[in-house]
Amino acid sequence: MQNKLKIAIQKSGRLSENSLKLLKECGIDIDNGLNKLKTEASNFPIEVFFLRDDDIPQYVEDGVADIGVVGENVLLEKNKNLKLVDKLGFGKCRLSLAIPKEQNYKSIKDLNGKRIATTYSTILSKYLKSQKVKAEIHEISGSVEIAPSIGLADAICDLVSSGSTLFTNGLKEVEVILKSEAVLVANKKLGKEQQTILDKLLFRMNAVRKAKNTKYILLNAPNNKLEAICKILPGMKSPTILPLANKGWSSVHSVVEENQFWDIIEKLKAEGAQGILVVPIEKMIL
Ligand code: ATP
Ligand code: ZN
Repeated sequence: MQNKLKIAIQKSGRLSENSLKLLKECGIDIDNGLNKLKTEASNFPIEVFFLRDDDIPQYVEDGVADIGVVGENVLLEKNKNLKLVDKLGFGKCRLSLAIPKEQNYKSIKDLNGKRIATTYSTILSKYLKSQKVKAEIHEISGSVEIAPSIGLADAICDLVSSGSTLFTNGLKEVEVILKSEAVLVANKKLGKEQQTILDKLLFRMNAVRKAKNTKYILLNAPNNKLEAICKILPGMKSPTILPLANKGWSSVHSVVEENQFWDIIEKLKAEGAQGILVVPIEKMIL
């Protein structure tokens, strides 16, 4: 049997859908039957384990899985000996300190002597130490946001994205401890075959990412403006120019980066470009 790369992803939760999407965009077909703990891809040498996110760092460190997708928050909290391979751009959130909204807050020093409820005691205690604040950490396993209202704590340290959960619980965010997103982690001693498969996967992930940040652009231009228009378009090599049936006009094709996009469009229009079409690119291999 051919060796496979074993990847651990979250079974059900905020990272599950995007983790599966990541594999799908890389052209990997996965049969994701409900309640399955393990599955294989039909067209790529990969095996997928569906686990609780908290368990993923340990499994990858032990080599039960070769690679895994977890939030940086979980990675730092579990503090395992893993290799961070790539940041994945989804699951963005922050780990923050919050206090009841009616309370005054000037600085982190205000938390001296206070009780802080969290599921992130490792990260929190490091942070408090670095800020020279002495507070009592109450480690709880869930529903951290209700701790102040039931009198269990004076403050909380929890994940925030929009802030609406804090708001509905009468809390306000006072410090951001960590900004987090989903990352790909790997065991530090991957076998040769596993490393080769991982490299293939990373190659595909890069192609998808480049394509997401780039658009294909088509436009019509009068021939006497072509030189000026080509100067504006960076392209992969140089723009493609095709003559139109309408004499004296050409069609120009190129690729532009998302972050320069509006700037370029404005300049193109100013130079007389017409009928500008912008098309998404699915994969991009340079
Ligand atoms: P599991 O059952 O796997 O232990 P969980 O309840 O611990 O799930 P989720 O709430 O699904 O985990 O969150 C998974 C990850 O999603 C978090 O560790 C974090 O990296 C990320 N995340 C993004 N936004 C948020 C948010 N607003 N609240 C919590 N986590 C978020
Ligand atoms: Zn979890």
